[in-house]
Amino acid sequence: MATLLRASGACQKAASAAQARTFASVAPAAASSRSHKVVVVGGGTAGMTVSHQLLRTGKFTQDDIAIVDPAEWHHYQPGWTLVGGGLKNKEDLRQSLTELVDPKLKFYNEQVGAFTPEENLITLSNGDKVNYEQLVVAPGINVDTSTIKGLPEALADPKSFVSTIFKYDTCDKASRNIKDFKKGNAIFTHPAGAIKCAGAPQKIMWLASDHWQRAGLYNYNDPASSPINISFATGLPVMFGVPKYSATLEALRKERNVEGLFQHDLVEINGDTAIFARPDGADKVTKKFDLLHAVPKMGPYAFVKNSALADQAGYVDVDQATLQHKKYVNVWSAGDASSLPTSKTAAAITAQAPVLVSNLLRRMNGQEVEAGYDGYTSCPLLTEYGKVLLAEFKYGGVPKETFGRLFDQATPNRAFYYLKKDFFPWVYQNYMVKGRWGGPSGFIR
Ligand SMILES: Cc1cc2nc3c(=O)[nH]c(=O)nc-3n(C[C@H](O)[C@H](O)[C@H](O)COP(=O)(O)OP(=O)(O)OC[C@H]3O[C@@H](n4cnc5c(N)ncnc54)[C@H](O)[C@@H]3O)c2cc1C
Repeated sequence: MATLLRASGACQKAASAAQARTFASVAPAAASSRSHKVVVVGGGTAGMTVSHQLLRTGKFTQDDIAIVDPAEWHHYQPGWTLVGGGLKNKEDLRQSLTELVDPKLKFYNEQVGAFTPEENLITLSNGDKVNYEQLVVAPGINVDTSTIKGLPEALADPKSFVSTIFKYDTCDKASRNIKDFKKGNAIFTHPAGAIKCAGAPQKIMWLASDHWQRAGLYNYNDPASSPINISFATGLPVMFGVPKYSATLEALRKERNVEGLFQHDLVEINGDTAIFARPDGADKVTKKFDLLHAVPKMGPYAFVKNSALADQAGYVDVDQATLQHKKYVNVWSAGDASSLPTSKTAAAITAQAPVLVSNLLRRMNGQEVEAGYDGYTSCPLLTEYGKVLLAEFKYGGVPKETFGRLFDQATPNRAFYYLKKDFFPWVYQNYMVKGRWGGPSGFIR
């Protein structure tokens, strides 16, 4: 906590040293000009939530706020695990971005190519320049299938038993593969390095194992005589980064006789062979598979990584408590693209967005920014059809549980399953991306 406050204090000094602008000193953006009070890069979870929360403050008029995103669709990505588990249709989890963006916002359906923070402008890939007073950078991260040799080809082959729920195009292939698989070695992977929703690679495995168990193809108590064998190959040394929840998941793994291949990082697929890198220069390990659920490596997009806004790892370099850029005081970031040292989830954005919005407004009013974000994030871990372990924690992996007084959240629970399957998709699509849901704080008026 002391570190957190120190960091935010330094940032506040930087903010007050720079020239303060107030709402009164800013002329409204002309509808036809490419100059806006706030420009938001990315219309994903963070971009939509922040833009709409800003708009709902009533402090902005037509086209004061602009969103830039080249996509046609806005996706509810957490639902792709449910698609992989055969519980949802992927088409129901996407919304037309043009329709989702409030008409009071200016929408540039274009890609951002470069940032020029010294001049308060961004350049779109069509060459147009857009000026801002405040910039919110939220383009997410790149789920890069080419980081695993052979993966793009294996995913594209409709007959292969290789899939991933981390892509819209293949999340339903995962479901088909699981249903059609009757016999052999099933391997589920989790890469080394930061990914979005660090629980998702094993959620799909738990659902698959439950499906096969119910179908009589996998016996938790006698895997040797089961037609299907299951392995979890993870680049990490443990099942999950937070010890409290990792303990339950490790116990579950042993109980269900899932082979644990720790510090095994999938780097190549060659026919029916998966090749894993090992730490400290150890020899690569090869494993034959009949079904593979692969999770690609993920990282910042080049246009962020190569910009003046990035930290050494390529993420937007913001203060972990205020969400303000460490160098450019009128630049902000939330979500997967940010340097915030917490698990990258939509749930985290429910807690980040109100802090970013409040501090951005304070900055516009010439006030000091406040340290408001404690790293809250959450991961509803499906452990079977009908049960979820609800991991909720803050910086340092310290549990911060909404229902901790009612339930042991490390014990998989039926109520959490319905939160994950029904409530979260509904509240996300109808309230969160419209700026009206604050996660554990509830609905925003
Ligand atoms: C399989 C899976 C399961 C998950 N499960 C959960 C879960 O259970 N719970 C949970 O809370 N979270 C979960 N998540 C994570 C969650 O979906 C992400 O953390 C969240 O969507 C990140 O939001 P974002 O706005 O940072 O990025 P995104 O939502 O990815 O949005 C980024 C946007 O930026 C746009 N963009 C990209 N490049 C540019 C550019 N050059 N110019 C302009 N715009 C650009 C993109 O088109 C996109 O619209 C899951 C994710 C996946 C994939």
